[in-house]
Amino acid sequence: MSGPRILAGKDLAASLRATVAAGVWELTAAGLRQPCLAAVLVGENPASQVYVGSKVKSCGEVGIASRTLRLPATTTEPELLAVVDSLNADDAVDGILVQLPLPKQIVERHAIDRVTPEKDVDGFHPMSVGRLWLDEPGFISATPFGILALLRDAGIPLAGKRAVIVGRSAIVGKPMAALLLREHCTVTICHSRTADLPAVTREADLLVAAIGRPGMLGPEHVKEGAVVVDVGINRLRERAEVERFFPGDAERLRQLETRGSTIIGDVDYMRVAPRCSAITPVPGGVGLLTVAMLLVNTLNAARLRQGLKP
Ligand code: NAP
Repeated sequence: MSGPRILAGKDLAASLRATVAAGVWELTAAGLRQPCLAAVLVGENPASQVYVGSKVKSCGEVGIASRTLRLPATTTEPELLAVVDSLNADDAVDGILVQLPLPKQIVERHAIDRVTPEKDVDGFHPMSVGRLWLDEPGFISATPFGILALLRDAGIPLAGKRAVIVGRSAIVGKPMAALLLREHCTVTICHSRTADLPAVTREADLLVAAIGRPGMLGPEHVKEGAVVVDVGINRLRERAEVERFFPGDAERLRQLETRGSTIIGDVDYMRVAPRCSAITPVPGGVGLLTVAMLLVNTLNAARLRQGLKP
């Protein structure tokens, strides 16, 4: 029997970036303004610094201007809201993202809600979320938006399929559910209180894992022939864990030795993949599309703000 189809995000991410670059060129060639993304980074969280760095670098590669506003970890909520207000009022800024997590003294929801909906390229504002559930045009959270693009690009049929999403976060699980419902899937959302999780996930034609627990979904969770999308990004730091999840994988052990960790998704890939018709790898799957979709959203924001269709 041949193995599962590997849904790698690389080629689609490259083609989306090329489309955005062409869109930016079209705007500037028509004498319109170059799109601009402003990223607000509060504190010194190393992962957040890497994420913002990669978003800013990607903007540069497709011709989108960017600004990074670095605020100290001691920033108060009123101070952050004042920065968001100034970006809302700045005509040259098309997209605003407030990198999460924020320091404890700031209520994340307050910061997200303060971004004006027309610049909400993360798709986290209640207006964007409401539009998504109402099937109205609006900004869609980049990770689920990227997953949908990947499934469509691969020609995976969705209408009428049973989709099960494990995870109900506002940035992945819930918007994923809304998007798959829009695609006419029959959608179930699972979470930490779901009773008999394997019995529910085994019903899935399409299983999306957005949990944040290394290799949690095993073969007992997956129906033969299912399509599995692994959103998780977790790190293994113990040799015994790496050997358990990736037996005989010298490259993984080398990563552990040289970098101190290796990345794993929420799916036990080596044991689950043989059951699947298609599966996304980690790394190299969903993650590559998230930044690409942020660029798509930023270009669309710039087009809309200059009176063009997205
Ligand atoms: P999150 O906000 O922590 O949500 C995790 C969800 O998983 C929650 O709904 C939680 O249930 C559920 N869960 C936890 N333990 C469970 C269990 N034992 N059984 C069933 N459900 C369980 O995480 P997130 O922000 O959605 O992110 C999920 C993962 O995706 C993380 O690894 C994150 O790093 C990764 N991620 C990747 C990308 C990308 O670009 N590839 C983007 C965003 C996130 P409760 O609601 O009941 O607590």
